[in-house]
Amino acid sequence: MKHFAHYVALFCLSLLVFSCKTKEIIIQAEEVDDIVTYLASDELEGRDTGSEGIEKAAIYIENYFKGLGVKPYFDTYRDNFTVRGKEAYNVIGYLEGTDPVLKDEFVILGAHYDHIGYGEADGDDTIANGANDNAAGVGTVMAMAKYFAKTKSNKRSILFTLFSAEEKGLLGSKYLAKTLKEKNIDLYIMLNFEMVGVPLVDKDYIAYVTGFDTSNLAEKMNEYAGKKIAGFLPKAGEYRLFMRSDNYPFFQEFGVPCQTFSTFDFTNFQHYHKVGDEAEKMNFNHMASFVNTFIPAVKKAVNAPTKEILLNSSAK
Ligand SMILES: [Zn+2]
Repeated sequence: MKHFAHYVALFCLSLLVFSCKTKEIIIQAEEVDDIVTYLASDELEGRDTGSEGIEKAAIYIENYFKGLGVKPYFDTYRDNFTVRGKEAYNVIGYLEGTDPVLKDEFVILGAHYDHIGYGEADGDDTIANGANDNAAGVGTVMAMAKYFAKTKSNKRSILFTLFSAEEKGLLGSKYLAKTLKEKNIDLYIMLNFEMVGVPLVDKDYIAYVTGFDTSNLAEKMNEYAGKKIAGFLPKAGEYRLFMRSDNYPFFQEFGVPCQTFSTFDFTNFQHYHKVGDEAEKMNFNHMASFVNTFIPAVKKAVNAPTKEILLNSSAK
């Protein structure tokens, strides 16, 4: 029996060593639930740009980054600008790449954290909580920040960018894209996440990508994931969604692949820009599965030995 216990102890030890080596980080549904539920709570009053509620959201994201050891890219986490006389700020976390050469190339992972504030009343409810739009995208980027901060597995540098004033006309992303262009950073790709809190129905892919034809992004992500995770939604083309989110200013400034992933197709969620866009309507098992499915593909993109995701010639 003594020997048996010895072998059991050895086996456990080797399991521990193995799991440390692989540094497996799985994002749990409860984690994204916590983030989205806080950001979309009534206390934050719909996170309108310039409001006290969005200030609370910014502090929450900053503290999350701090806790992970994700550093500010500028002097602080905030990238300040003004919107009609009101103070606004993108919140930006930075993880320097681990490769001496590739670290000079940047991948931007982004989502807007502002929303529209108050909306048309539904009974007593007047707060447009913006759970799907876009606390869900913010939760996705924060979870990815956690993954890369814990695993230190990014050869390229990553900027985790949470934009303000998207709802006012992409103002935060326009401001940051311009600033980064002036700094002349070498941007490889910008991946943006919008409304990923509820799954698509009857699709053979997990999320659609806007500007599908502008690059080989979907094709490469599917190759990296080993399955079809990104697809083409005809409505995204029809509504020109490529130009309607924070990816677009980066595409304009840098002329590299900058695209948005979303699981909202105008039929699977009835509360877009309404007071009913609340945390309890999110599917957090879907969100965790979305994040855990996308992370390995994003990781391969971040670490590709050369720039493999490229614009199609028609988009140049
Ligand atoms: Zn949005």
